[in-house]
Amino acid sequence: MTTTPYHYIIVGGGSAGCVLANRLSADARYNVLLLEAGPPDDHWVLSIPTGVVASLMKPEFSWGYESTPQSGLENRPFPIPRGRVLGGSSSVNGMVYFRGHPGDYDDWAHREGARGWSYAEVLPYFCRSEDNRTFAGSPYHGASGEMSVTNSPRPNRLSRSFLEATKSLGLPECVDFNGPDPEGCGMRQATIRNGRRESMVTAFLHPVRHRANLEVKTGVVVDRVLIENGRATGVRCLVDNQVCDFHAAGEVILSAGAYGSPAVLQRSGVGDAEELAALGVKVQHHLPAVGRGLRDHPNAAVQVKTDRDHTSYGVSARAMLRNIGNVLEYVLWRGGPVGSSTFEATGFLRSDPSLARPDLQLVFMPAHRGPKMTALPMGHGYGVLSILVRPKSHGRVTIASADPLAKPLIDPRFYEDPDDIDVVRKGLLLARQIVQHPAFNRYGGHEILPGPDVKDDAALTSYIRRTSSTVHHPGCTCRMGDDPSTTVVDHELKVRGIAGLRVADASVFPTLIAGNTNAAVVMIAEKAADMLLGKAAPEPVRLPRAAL
Ligand SMILES: Cc1cc2nc3c(=O)[nH]c(=O)nc-3n(C[C@H](O)[C@H](O)[C@H](O)COP(=O)(O)OP(=O)(O)OC[C@H]3O[C@@H](n4cnc5c(N)ncnc54)[C@H](O)[C@@H]3O)c2cc1C
Repeated sequence: MTTTPYHYIIVGGGSAGCVLANRLSADARYNVLLLEAGPPDDHWVLSIPTGVVASLMKPEFSWGYESTPQSGLENRPFPIPRGRVLGGSSSVNGMVYFRGHPGDYDDWAHREGARGWSYAEVLPYFCRSEDNRTFAGSPYHGASGEMSVTNSPRPNRLSRSFLEATKSLGLPECVDFNGPDPEGCGMRQATIRNGRRESMVTAFLHPVRHRANLEVKTGVVVDRVLIENGRATGVRCLVDNQVCDFHAAGEVILSAGAYGSPAVLQRSGVGDAEELAALGVKVQHHLPAVGRGLRDHPNAAVQVKTDRDHTSYGVSARAMLRNIGNVLEYVLWRGGPVGSSTFEATGFLRSDPSLARPDLQLVFMPAHRGPKMTALPMGHGYGVLSILVRPKSHGRVTIASADPLAKPLIDPRFYEDPDDIDVVRKGLLLARQIVQHPAFNRYGGHEILPGPDVKDDAALTSYIRRTSSTVHHPGCTCRMGDDPSTTVVDHELKVRGIAGLRVADASVFPTLIAGNTNAAVVMIAEKAADMLLGKAAPEPVRLPRAAL
């Protein structure tokens, strides 16, 4: 089955895809088609902020990926949830709004060859999409964009204890993690609107679904890009197991995410020629960088259990009345803990004072997640995640076969570089100091993980290898830059060697930003839309910020 041509075809209705669909269809001259493999986002669980716990357990909203066995993790694989629903991963994520460090973007522009992507040049795009009333008037924030960004109105008492402890230990404070200097400890910002998840589909797509020049199709798995004489002319898809082609008179934009976009490219014959030929894929363009460069943020946790205190979020007989009250408060007023992002407090820190900028994120969890780090907190306690945010190790993603329904092989090679595990270990030691601070005495907790006996470097390293997993920030699998041997797209996000084809999502990060990735993806899609529509980039905004 074939269809009449569209001007733009966007592959993947996730964070980037929703922003692009909005911005491109704002120009009535162009017909825009957005294709998403997953279902619509109309399930109630996706709209409730604490529903993140339940949505992660629902296989119908996730690709259900798993890493290959990791030699740095004692040959364990680990689960990799990714959103497979309209809104993509933004429909199931933790809603944290954190752009990383301004220096990340300067590195992109000045070290990685991503011309036009320095902090001064991308700041206007961050502000364009943001609706942040807390920092309204700040030149680092926007207050009239589509995406609501808020601070937690009523953080858990335990989160306050975390900040009391970090302050008393002499760690710096940070009031605005998206301001001039994000280093320090403080409360995080979240994409929440009136007690509901602000996914990129609620922010950018639903408000414009009525546009006559915008078509959104769910349940469509894009197999590959159709390429004729070196030019993308459309996409071949599976709809209810039937093959269906859609044609693009203008451009095809891949926004299928850090695993999806390289997989579509490889199935289209764009990748390592030898590897593709071995899988029976007709090679269109030898571009070995496709899928390579995968980076992600690994973590390990200190966890404390409280037997008598039930201040933490959790399921227990003792907390039943309070939990019922919280649910009622949410149902009646959309307020209280059910409507807020649970992991409210954080630290963005340097594991070594000689470093130019932070390489470690500590995330405080006012919930007991048990030895298996389950999503649903049974019982009570708290913990701190130690997260490496500037990993040196990098791996790759590769299709396992030409079958569009087959899962890709995801190999992030966690801890291949020995420096990486040192940072997580230093973070665990700091986390332990924090939870042992007198600010936590009133809760009467006792450490269950790594456990009081796990003290020396060797024991901690072994604990990290046994328990580490991802905090869900993969990127860099179709890197942007100017080196044709290590990058996939140029600074205008155009795929090398194929006309009419761009990538715009987390896969184009030249290097992984040192923070949660959704805000950066939205920024990329904003800038991609300007470039596609031939609009001039906004004037760079040069503002004071921390010395790098
Ligand atoms: C559990 C979890 C928690 C997270 N927490 C946070 C957080 O708190 N803060 C933060 O900033 N970031 C967080 N992230 C990361 C953030 O959500 C992602 O970086 C961001 O959503 C990525 O956007 P994207 O557009 O690159 O990909 P996605 O949003 O994943 O979108 C890709 C879309 O493409 C679709 N797709 C893929 N392949 C195909 C195909 N072949 N055909 C058709 N459609 C296809 C997918 O179904 C998906 O909808 C989290 C992610 C997860 C999974």
